[in-house]
Amino acid sequence: MKEVHVNLHNIRNCICGKCPSFPGKWKEMAHADMPGLFCGHGRSKLEIDQIGCVCGECEVQKEHELTGGYYCVSGKAV
Ligand code: SF4
Ligand code: SF4
Repeated sequence: MKEVHVNLHNIRNCICGKCPSFPGKWKEMAHADMPGLFCGHGRSKLEIDQIGCVCGECEVQKEHELTGGYYCVSGKAV
């Protein structure tokens, strides 16, 4: 497993925005408060309804050899 850095490449590859659990109200918040890329940023400040996680389909997951999911709840991939 490789550490996920917050960089443009990873931000562009993150598919959290397409996830059913991604809270819609993030879209209304300031940019700095709506990171996605939770495997690099750490967990969300918001309560998440865990109704599915698409991390398994994500290029960031593959490139960094991650095996988990729900980083928005559990925090950074370590
Ligand atoms: S693995 Fe999950 S949290 Fe990390 S960038 Fe991909 S979709 Fe986002
Ligand atoms: S970490 Fe997983 S569950 Fe959370 S928003 Fe991203 S894809 Fe969805």
